[in-house]
Amino acid sequence: MLSLYHRIQKIESLQKTADKDIRLCKSHTGLICLKHCAKCCSYDDITASPAEFLPFAWHAWRVGLLDKWFDELDRHDSRICLFAHFNEGEWGCRIYPSRGMICRLFGFAATTDKNGQPLFAACRVLKQNCPELVQNVGNYLARGGKMPIIANYYRKLCAIEPALGNEMMPINQSIKKALEVIYFHFAYSECA
Ligand code: SF4
Repeated sequence: MLSLYHRIQKIESLQKTADKDIRLCKSHTGLICLKHCAKCCSYDDITASPAEFLPFAWHAWRVGLLDKWFDELDRHDSRICLFAHFNEGEWGCRIYPSRGMICRLFGFAATTDKNGQPLFAACRVLKQNCPELVQNVGNYLARGGKMPIIANYYRKLCAIEPALGNEMMPINQSIKKALEVIYFHFAYSECA
């Protein structure tokens, strides 16, 4: 079995592939979020797997921020993601480059129909405000255009990290579990 470090490198590489596929799709379709929307980060029912936050947690350990994030999570009494900021001048995700897989795919990926054909999983905001754009992406997929398929990415994530990839839970819990995995990994290696 690969070491935790190498599994995390593989997860990062999968996330980069998702980013690349999304950039390609955006360049072909003009798909883009509404300016300063961030509505998707404001939902209080986002679920994620701890596996997708392992790269973030590893980086937090490297820069000495594990305790800070544990403290913030303990004080955070909301189901909305700890890292979502909606204040003037502080808008957006506080860990954007290290955000999870769901954060990358949501609004920029597809599900599949019963025949395996991709269906654009557009977000509610875009459906309401930019129906032409949503239609444009649908036409692009119908012409054989490529867009990340959500289930495929999660399947690959689970192949890299089976236990932590299969466990879907509220996003703040998944972040905390990823931090705990990294904390115990280094605590035990220091004892060994
Ligand atoms: S990690 Fe960042 S992108 Fe993901 S839900 Fe939280 S604030 Fe949004």
